[in-house]
Amino acid sequence: MSEAKYIWNLPSIEIPELFYSEKTGQAFDKCSMCGHIFTGYTTFIVEKSFKRNLITKELELIFEYALCHKCQENLKSELSEKSIQNIAMYYQLYVDFEKRTELLLTDDNKNIDNWISKCIITGKPIAEEEEFTVGGLIYDDKLVLDAMPFALSEKAIYEMQEVLSKKTKEFLDGFQNEIFPPEIREKLPDGRLILL
Ligand SMILES: [Zn+2]
Repeated sequence: MSEAKYIWNLPSIEIPELFYSEKTGQAFDKCSMCGHIFTGYTTFIVEKSFKRNLITKELELIFEYALCHKCQENLKSELSEKSIQNIAMYYQLYVDFEKRTELLLTDDNKNIDNWISKCIITGKPIAEEEEFTVGGLIYDDKLVLDAMPFALSEKAIYEMQEVLSKKTKEFLDGFQNEIFPPEIREKLPDGRLILL
């Protein structure tokens, strides 16, 4: 989402634990799709999806993955033009990314909570969401503060799936089959949107 800017010039913070791999308890060290090991100065995105236990209020991970830049580009090229346009329009309808970044960076505020405490689409507090997804862009060993990180509520995730074409949904199903172990895959709805 930030192709025009140089990633190494963007503001960043130490990777918050929320963006760590729950499996290892540390920052992601390889691409979940191609297995490429992240050595220094690698760019990758992390997506993690959570469900809130309504009784204990504790967060349970539904899935997580890290995707290297190359895999991300490959995936994008497989999606239909129409779906990419629709998703871009959906975001445009609700978010002015430039303004948001500007606002969040004022006073040198690099507190991660400000970036993900509300759904970027609905504006509702994530703390009240039963299910939500967070996405972040990592460069080297830092979380970049730009269009990402952000959080999406369940409502936004499902609405976005509505605007995807059949071809794209089928492709995403295939992606999910490849990237998630069967026990996780069967919990996910088909054609679930991934952060691109
Ligand atoms: Zn990869």
